[in-house]
Amino acid sequence: MMRIPRPVTRQEVEQSRPARFSVDPYQPVGWLIEEEYSRNRRVEKTAVVFLANRECPLRCVMCDLWKQTLVGRTPAGAVVAQLEGVLPELRAATQIKLYNHGNFFDPLAVPMADRRAIAQRMEGFHTVIVENHPRFCGPGCAEFRSWLPEATQLEVAMGLEVANDLWLRWLHKQMTVADFCQAAQWLVRQGIFVRAFVLLGLPGTEAAESLHWALRSVREAFRAGADVVSIIPLRSGNGILDRLADEGWRWPSRLVLLETALFLALQEKQGRVFADLWQVENWEACPECRSRRLENLCYMNSTQQPSEPVACRCSTPITIP
Ligand code: SF4
Ligand SMILES: [Zn+2]
Repeated sequence: MMRIPRPVTRQEVEQSRPARFSVDPYQPVGWLIEEEYSRNRRVEKTAVVFLANRECPLRCVMCDLWKQTLVGRTPAGAVVAQLEGVLPELRAATQIKLYNHGNFFDPLAVPMADRRAIAQRMEGFHTVIVENHPRFCGPGCAEFRSWLPEATQLEVAMGLEVANDLWLRWLHKQMTVADFCQAAQWLVRQGIFVRAFVLLGLPGTEAAESLHWALRSVREAFRAGADVVSIIPLRSGNGILDRLADEGWRWPSRLVLLETALFLALQEKQGRVFADLWQVENWEACPECRSRRLENLCYMNSTQQPSEPVACRCSTPITIP
């Protein structure tokens, strides 16, 4: 029997928020070069630009991306200016993530008038990856793709989160599993690759149940046409999740769970699967196994080979009932 936490209102999500960071619309929030196992079956340098832009209009319960966004609409030309400032530093990379903490095809986030200029600056990257909610998928995605250099592919990353409509409603995701699948299939028909984000660690669940939903969601994403799936461990710190945790709606947060989820998902050989290691320092493991678990996760991310979770006296293996 599924146990979903008490309902949360949009107002409660907003009122629970801690302060946001101050963001300059003409400077990216950050940028880096990371390594990622690519569609070309090798580890490639991947640029990540965290674009400053207006926050997503949705209020998902698990979201903390709003912290580094603008409250009002993004000024015209600002995103192009941000890119011009950092692209010279990123030319060693072969693919690029333009992550805007929201929806790239939301015209108030990335103004439509700027899209062609952004696309034209993507020369030299074989893939451009942007984030978007299924509700913002439409002709604008295909148009942006048509403006990219000939050798550059577009990949749209969308949060499926959990392949269950009751959970999606509780999360305020404003979509159903079918909406996600339709958007993914439509993108694939346009020649656009799809990346899916899947949540690990649902409030109020035990480890086995979280694992069950994560694996089921990974399968659903691949069935819908995703080329790659990233498993995102739930992060505290957005206000509402901390309030729920204080009320007893905690979630499993041991590294062995993330390791097991990645191991089992890779064993199914459906496509590339990553464990997102952003802020993973908040996930628990004992001093004896912590670094070995992190090494194992990095090994699986960079080779796409399933590797058994590290055995340690601090944790028993997690199995799905
Ligand atoms: S759709 Fe994405 S960016 Fe928008 S609130 Fe939900 S999780 Fe955050
Ligand atoms: Zn241990």
